[in-house]
Amino acid sequence: MLHTLLNEFRTSKNSKTQKLKVLYRLILNHGPIRAETLASLASMKPATCARLLDELSKCQLISTSELGESTGGRKPILYSINPADGYLVGIEMSDIYSTIVLQNLKLDILGMVKVKYEHLETAENMLDHLLNKVNTLLEEHHLKLESLLGIGIAIDHILERDKLPYHQYSARIQELYRYITDKVPCFVLLGSGISFAAFAEYRLRYASDSQRFLFTTCDTDIRSCTIINNHYAPAPISTAQAFGHTTIDINGQRCECGSFGCLKQYSSLSAIKTRIIKQLRLGKPSVINELVNHESEINYHIIFKALTLNDALCLEALEEAAYYYGIAIANAVLITQADVVVCGGTLTPKNHFFAVTKKSIEDKLSIFPHIKTRIYPANDSYEIVAQGAGGMVIQNYLFDY
Ligand SMILES: [Zn+2]
Repeated sequence: MLHTLLNEFRTSKNSKTQKLKVLYRLILNHGPIRAETLASLASMKPATCARLLDELSKCQLISTSELGESTGGRKPILYSINPADGYLVGIEMSDIYSTIVLQNLKLDILGMVKVKYEHLETAENMLDHLLNKVNTLLEEHHLKLESLLGIGIAIDHILERDKLPYHQYSARIQELYRYITDKVPCFVLLGSGISFAAFAEYRLRYASDSQRFLFTTCDTDIRSCTIINNHYAPAPISTAQAFGHTTIDINGQRCECGSFGCLKQYSSLSAIKTRIIKQLRLGKPSVINELVNHESEINYHIIFKALTLNDALCLEALEEAAYYYGIAIANAVLITQADVVVCGGTLTPKNHFFAVTKKSIEDKLSIFPHIKTRIYPANDSYEIVAQGAGGMVIQNYLFDY
């Protein structure tokens, strides 16, 4: 039933079906929600809205509850989507830990598998293996691949690992898409981790009170994704790390992209490592000197270890990275006027990286007191990418074409 109706949403041009789709999408993204709010968000007359809601209820796509706050008299009715029978699978492919989640339409996680790869596997081998794990997970929940609404997969880690040049991305993505769709009898969606993580953060935490949402992560690369007016339009996988190449200083160091002074040269993990090594060569004291015998042994794990020991030299390098990251985010806010900024990635939870980033953004924006941007750290869960990958599947049934 759910499958048939959602497929109808995806394919039918009938104007009533389109209206039902609009309402269903609003309930999915904003529910539990009152009929009056829905009518105003959908720009529908209350009577039309009530009639369509009735139809969605009869098809069991939505359900009602009376948990809303009473404004005196009868308690208002709240509409939510009915998560029964709608199952999604999200996968984050990674060499470190691949994650598979099984979830319902509300993105509640029903089951999860983590897979660690000991050897370097081809993307195809990994997919075979991960699909086996999906089958086992589904069996445990008495489900079949056919009963899934679809599988969303974040593949950018693997494309980056394979050092694929950007101009080959489209062809390789097509190749992998064909490989998977030959094996699974359900809808498949491939995308980038940043757009999936942004989507999950937004859907689970900010959908009700953000119109211009900016999500960004700081790791070896620096990425961003924006969601404007509840509209999910993920950028191509090959452009996920473009934010790292915004210019911070035209007189700065040359970046791998050919430009000078890109953000990546100031705030990425590799930038922090370079800065630390430079200071050590100047003879500055650091606990790193006790952790390694030679400069060549310095890696991110050593730096993180030194940070947990509050090493002054590493803290200073981290702070400088956070400062520039904040400046770049503030620049992005000046353009997008984002009302919510969420910072994620490996560095955000380290020491006071987030606090310095936040202060740097706020200082830069303080001359525009009317730009009211709230800044938050990302939820520090490892499932967020997989959760968003599955979640994007349902959005794909509900896009306007
Ligand atoms: Zn660059």
